Amino acid sequence: MVRIPPSHPRYVSLMLRERIVEGYRKGLVVLEGLIAHGRGEAFDYILGEKTHWFAEEAMRAAVALMLLSKHPVISVNGNTAALVPGDIVRLAEAVGARIEVNLFYRTKEREEAIARILREHGAQEVLGVGDDASATIPELHSERRRVSPRGILVADTVLVPLEDGDRTEALRRMGKNVIAIDLNPFSRTAQMASITIVDNVVRSVPRMVELAHEFRGLEEEVLRRIVSGYDNRRILGEAIRTIRLRLDELAEKGVFVEAGDYA
Ligand code: ATP
Ligand code: MG
Repeated sequence: MVRIPPSHPRYVSLMLRERIVEGYRKGLVVLEGLIAHGRGEAFDYILGEKTHWFAEEAMRAAVALMLLSKHPVISVNGNTAALVPGDIVRLAEAVGARIEVNLFYRTKEREEAIARILREHGAQEVLGVGDDASATIPELHSERRRVSPRGILVADTVLVPLEDGDRTEALRRMGKNVIAIDLNPFSRTAQMASITIVDNVVRSVPRMVELAHEFRGLEEEVLRRIVSGYDNRRILGEAIRTIRLRLDELAEKGVFVEAGDYA
């Protein structure tokens, strides 16, 4: 792995890039995943590489919804497994969700490599591997249509970090709640999801684990109110407005004035 000095002004971003490249070398991530990561980086740069209030609000609704759901499932792809395997396992435990591997570019080696890393991080069970992905989502033509009959097929709520737009749409048509984590508020995934967390998975998944522990003791009624008071249109609008305000600010003050303010 390339050594990046912690003093480098782009340290965090470069480390994440290295983690994705490492994930590629280990057979978790595909080349297309590197491109997807680059697009995420660009949006994160514009957003100031921090978690904004609109993402926090979406995460609160998402965690409440997962705690209320009968059968929540966390769908994991290569990039997610490379970036936040431990946090995915902790979130699944904290909200009582199952974990399922779901890949656009599916090979047996890759699904097994992803399941292995999740197990190394403490997952008891990983669905969607090999023959377990025996059910299909109607009207979906990519490999992402293959799902586990014990997981996504029967889920009422699916958390999809870094999802594909087509499948988000197909899952919604099946009547499921879809929670997306996507730095691009314009993507079809972001626009089609029931709850969209416009934030980096490396910040949002650990934050969701914290929220899950905080919310676990709450009455169902309180959780229901958090979910029913949530409006995804408004939150997506706020994310887009924040991008516009950030661009105005950067145009006026200069891009690098803000660089120390990213944490
Ligand atoms: P869609 O299929 O939803 O229309 P797309 O085809 O434009 O979207 P994909 O390649 O399918 O994009 O998905 C990659 C998405 O994941 C991009 O929107 C990108 O911004 C986002 N993304 C990449 N890395 C991260 C990350 N670390 N955290 C959050 N989002 C990310
Ligand atoms: Mg896509």
